[in-house]
Amino acid sequence: MDIIDFHTHYVRKEDINPIWLNYLESINPQFYARMDDFSKQPELFKDYLKAQGVKYAVVLPECAPATTGFVPTEEVIEYCRGQEMLIPFTSLNPNVHPDPAAQIQSQVKEGGVKGLKLHPSYQFFYPNEPRLYPLYAKAQELVIPVVFHIGSSIFKGTRLKYCDPIYLDDVAVDFPELRIIMAHSGRGFWYDDCFFLSRLHRNVYMDITGLPPQNLLSYFPEMEKNREKILFGSDWPTIPTDIGKNIEAVKALPLSDRTLEAILYRNAEKILFG
Ligand SMILES: [Zn+2]
Repeated sequence: MDIIDFHTHYVRKEDINPIWLNYLESINPQFYARMDDFSKQPELFKDYLKAQGVKYAVVLPECAPATTGFVPTEEVIEYCRGQEMLIPFTSLNPNVHPDPAAQIQSQVKEGGVKGLKLHPSYQFFYPNEPRLYPLYAKAQELVIPVVFHIGSSIFKGTRLKYCDPIYLDDVAVDFPELRIIMAHSGRGFWYDDCFFLSRLHRNVYMDITGLPPQNLLSYFPEMEKNREKILFGSDWPTIPTDIGKNIEAVKALPLSDRTLEAILYRNAEKILFG
């Protein structure tokens, strides 16, 4: 079975704040020891992905200087350039970028960016604020999906209120063609809300990034019914295990092959490649 990992991070020691760097060292010492090599050599990451059974990976920058750090989109574009299996997204921040709609246009047209990541609780905005609307309109026009971090985080400085999935309801209604992905599916206390929203709105999806696979059916007992709206992501390298082990744990769940294929590949394929 082919796999798309919809959520990996590009990290460079110089770009991320000590809070993330130290956590990375504790949770994934193997990666940490080779972090400089990984950040300089996309080949190394590609070989790793292949060994884990991953065909394509979304690679995320991170513009959150007040919390986790500032990994510029330009670095991710450069890293993924010419690497078919690495799919660059952009990270824009309404408190840093004065005109994110103009920026995404050039990143898509010139940089080959395939999606947008927003991080309300690290970047401090409510997803339904009017100042974000020109960015959503541009993403919708460019047919670019938007991933929102929706859920708790262990990093100090996080302001959880911005992650309440209810604010995405407005966005889903006002931009009916914009594909909205709730990364982490409300981790902590919004599992039911995220599941409900993704059932309610044709354009809203949830991803299982950072959730223990063995617990998924207790969080979402009706996963099977929502098979077209769930995506797999690993959150590599900030994970305590290999991506392949994560994939195996998902495959071990009592779900139909049709559902597993949709979650591990087909839904992401539709969003990324049409
Ligand atoms: Zn992440």
